[in-house]
Amino acid sequence: SSAASPFITLNTGAKMPTVGMGLWKISNSTVADQVYQAIKLGYRLFDGACDYGNETEAGKGISRAISDGLVTRQDLFITSKLWCTYHKREHVKPALQRTLSDLKLDYVDLYLVHFPIALEYVPFDKKYPPEWSLEKNGPVVQANVPYRETWEAMEELVTEGLAKNIGISNMSGAMIYDLLTYARVRPAVLQIEMHPYLVRKELVDLAHSEGIAVTAFSSFGDASYLEIDMVPKDQQIVPLLKHDVVGRISKRVGKTPAQVLLRWAVQRGCAVIPKSSNPERLLENKDLFGFELSSEDMEDISGLDRKLIFNNPAIYAKRAIWA
Ligand code: NAD
Repeated sequence: SSAASPFITLNTGAKMPTVGMGLWKISNSTVADQVYQAIKLGYRLFDGACDYGNETEAGKGISRAISDGLVTRQDLFITSKLWCTYHKREHVKPALQRTLSDLKLDYVDLYLVHFPIALEYVPFDKKYPPEWSLEKNGPVVQANVPYRETWEAMEELVTEGLAKNIGISNMSGAMIYDLLTYARVRPAVLQIEMHPYLVRKELVDLAHSEGIAVTAFSSFGDASYLEIDMVPKDQQIVPLLKHDVVGRISKRVGKTPAQVLLRWAVQRGCAVIPKSSNPERLLENKDLFGFELSSEDMEDISGLDRKLIFNNPAIYAKRAIWA
């Protein structure tokens, strides 16, 4: 028996596709075509963010797919994320409005607070997206904005119909418990880094027991971080896609290592948002429902856990604010 199905019903009643396409690091010059092609291949969920710097181009792909009649707006599930510099109450709605105007949409299906870290406000005309710092490797300036203030402004977006669902990302269990003490609109989704080197059983169980759906990002572990030089060099890290355990199971079930890693997440009841630019891989990454991993396979894969987080904000923020 497995929890896997092509949709996950959120605590708002909305149906979120279990598999989507991630848009991080897809270049502006190709993202419109890639989104369009992915829609043609059957993708309906796109995971974007202000911070990815490609919303205007992604929006062109979406608009073209809609105007060509491939899909309607309602068929799509579009996610974006509030950047850290817009956590103050008065900046939350303008930030989403900017995203919507870039995407050429009236609403997003899901708006996440990208990180529970508030940075000093940067006006749009100064730098957009503002990233972690105004200059490359420059200082990261924190702002004293409690998460509660940001969340209350997020709740307003639901009331106004600009975001159908709101959620959280890169949050710890302790922070979720705190949020739940005041949230009038409970988070629909928790998006976190999760792969066999970072299994996070307790956090996933906590979210699920609180009715919060979990989306895993960076399902292929180190794969995404090699290209940005964020794989620690002081540890011997076997590339997850090349790991023996994954390879053995892949051969036995007749699926690729990528599919095994994605299926492992999906079978834990989580959504996945793999990023690829290659049509064959895009097809393979969404073909996850015609096979099953045995409970022994699931345990063997989870046995690879080494609590290894690649996307650690302490690296960007150069300050040990992550625990
Ligand atoms: P990912 O795990 O999806 O890995 C992408 C890498 O894997 C790329 O190098 C790609 O070429 C390769 N790949 C893709 N499909 C493959 C296949 N079938 N076989 C072999 N290699 C394959 O990494 P990601 O992009 O970090 O994560 C996915 C998405 O999650 C992002 O695009 C983004 O939308 C989201 N994300 C969110 C946050 C957050 O803070 N909320 C952080 C990171 C990523």
